[in-house]
Parts: sequence; C-alpha cells; structure tokens
Amino acid sequence: MTAPEEPPLTGPRLDYGPANDADGTRVVRAGLPAEEPYEPPLPGPVFAAHYHLPGEVEGAPYAYGRDANPTWSRLEQALAELEAPGDPDAEVITFSSGMGAISAVLFSLARPGQTVVLPSDGYNQLAEMRERLEGLGVQVRTARTGGDAQLAEVDEDVSLLWLETPCNPGLDVCDIRKLADAAHERGALVAVDNTLATPLGQRPLLLGADISVASGTKALTGHGDVLLGYVATRNQQVAAAVRAWRKTVGAIPGPMEAWLAHRSLATLDVRTQRQAGNALAVAEALTARPEVRDVRHPGLSDDPSHPLAARQMSRYGCVVSFTLADEAHANRFLSQLRLVDNATSFGGVRSTAERRGRWGGDQVPDGFIRLSVGVEDSADLVTDIRRALDEAAG
Ligand SMILES: *Cc1c(COP(=O)(O)O)cnc(C)c1O
Repeated sequence: MTAPEEPPLTGPRLDYGPANDADGTRVVRAGLPAEEPYEPPLPGPVFAAHYHLPGEVEGAPYAYGRDANPTWSRLEQALAELEAPGDPDAEVITFSSGMGAISAVLFSLARPGQTVVLPSDGYNQLAEMRERLEGLGVQVRTARTGGDAQLAEVDEDVSLLWLETPCNPGLDVCDIRKLADAAHERGALVAVDNTLATPLGQRPLLLGADISVASGTKALTGHGDVLLGYVATRNQQVAAAVRAWRKTVGAIPGPMEAWLAHRSLATLDVRTQRQAGNALAVAEALTARPEVRDVRHPGLSDDPSHPLAARQMSRYGCVVSFTLADEAHANRFLSQLRLVDNATSFGGVRSTAERRGRWGGDQVPDGFIRLSVGVEDSADLVTDIRRALDEAAG
C-alpha cells in the first residue's frame, strides 16, 4: 500500500474482496452459513464432544470435539474473510487464548538450531516464550519495534521473524511490508501479532506477512467476557502444522466462546471506529496537559509512529499510553476516574486503564499508564479524564 497524499485521520479505506463490500458490510455477514428457511442466521453454539460417525474417519468433517467443531468453523471462516477478504486460500485456526495461538505458531514452526527474532518491546509473555524456545535449542534474538536494529536482525540465519505492530504497551510501529520483503529474501517466515489493530485496522497478510496471529480477547470480541486467539495464514503447510499442534496440545476454544466471538464481530466496525475516534480525542486532551508526558497514540498527527501507521493501518486502535510523574501520581489519577475502570486488558466497550508497571515485565517508567478507550461518549470521557487529572494534581 502506498501513502495517500493527505492521510485521513482514520487512514486509507481498505477495499478488498470480490464484492468490494466495505468492512462495515462485511462484518455483519462474515462466516454466516447459506440462508436456509426457518434456520437462524447465526446458528447457536454446538456443544459436542463427539459426532455420529458411521464409517471411516477419513473425510469426516466432524468426528471428535478436540479436532473440529461447526461453531469454530463458522468463526474461522468469518475471521479469514476479515484478515484476507476474497481470498479462498486464507485459513484461520482458532484457539482458547491469544497465547494458545502464539505458542502454536512458535512451537510448531521453530526447530532446534533455527533462529527466531522476537520484538524486545512486545507483549510481556514473549519473555517466557523466549526462555522456553531457548530451552528447546532454538536461538532467539530480539530487537525494538520499528528501530533500525529490527531490520538489521533479519540476516541469513533467521527462519522466523515475529513482529508486533503497534506493539503493546509502547505503541511503536514497524514497516510490515519492508521487513517481510527482507525476511522473504532470506527464506524466513514472517508472523505479525495483530491484536491491537484487529483485521479492520490492519491486514498483515495483505502487507506481505505469512501469518497473522492475534488475541481475540481484546478489541476483536470487545466486551471483556471472552478469551480467544487465532492464527490466519495462506500458507497451507503452516496451517497444517498449527492445526496439528492444536489437536495435540488441546488448546481449543469452547463452543460458547467461539459463538460469542462470532456474534461480536457484527459490531467490530462500529466499535473500532468509535473507539479510534474516542482514543484520538482523549490523546489530544492529554497532550494539552503539562503534567502528562510522552502521550503515545498512532493516530496523533505528531506521533513518531503516525507516518508509517497512516500507510499500513486503516484505523489506529483504542490504546493511548502516557506517563505521569511517578507511581503515586498515576495511582491517584486512576482512583479518581469515574468512567474508566482500573483494570488490565484493552479493547473493551468500557474504558479501562492501569499503571502498567504493577505487573513487572514491561520496560516502562513507574508512572506509565496504558489507557484503553471504550465506546462511551467522547466528551464525557474527556471531561472525566481532565477532572481526574485535576484531582490527582491535588
Ligand atoms: C493480550 C495479548 C496477547 C495474549 O492474549 P491472551 O488472549 O491474553 O492469551 C498477545 N499479544 C498481545 C499483543 C496482547 O495484547
């Protein structure tokens, strides 16, 4: 994708697929079965440990509940339509959580002696992942998201390049197309953690990545009531390896979770659009406050990530990060908020925020706050945040 001359605040509109449906149209029908008289548009969850299996196992679409389930199949079809609209080769494999999906990619593809490059500033569980991979004899190197070092790490030894963009919680962005081209020249596969953007904000497979992997726990399902993950790819060998891994390890989504996730996709466009608009309003309000430092949001026109984000993203997500003087100041601010819950995770319809340093693991200052902006009224949110800052200044 090339940069539009004047990037609109929501980024370029992505128009793909045979019918050229816009995303708002696509999400309400994605993965639905063909219309059948007197059947529901989205059939309910199928709760089954086993299925009637009259003959041979070979060719049976559904035999045992750890291998396949019609509720997953419909959700997987829907997610494939969103990650790679109109591409019949795209496959999605869903998991019980984002970490289930991430583990499936790393452990089913990385072999002893091979080299994997991970972001040093990505999701905090990547540090545990690194230890486990190294324990299995995989070489792991790390580099900061978007820095020159990341491209420099893509050398002849690399077999898998892992990207997370925008990265959580720092919100730096890297150039998927450029890094994927460099990795492919050296025969490496490229995976992108697309959790923060969701497929309506960014389509890694269309930007050259081999694998798009995400936690569906966050903005994808958006109500803070489901844990889910998925892997999307057009590479059949990768799909087969990841599917086989799921069957062996058993990290399968529950039918109820899969159904709730599918139901939530219908509002993905309206939710993420509203959240991106609210996030920008909140980020701008925070920027105007003298006591708030390092406000980061890829949609802010002067954010270091913005020029690249405007080229490869179509909306900028709901996360805003910033830093207050210290831990005490951050805690005072969080306790004064009325419309923003002090809670972890992000992407939900209700705004949440937390002092990220309380978990340990992320390289962030003590006063660093990760704020996830929900779908509330924008002016109410900004008013609440300004008042909490006033009271925290005390
Ligand atoms: C939350 C998150 C994960 C892990 O997902 P779970 O569903 O919690 O297992 C992975 N990557 C990113 C970027 C995340 O934000």
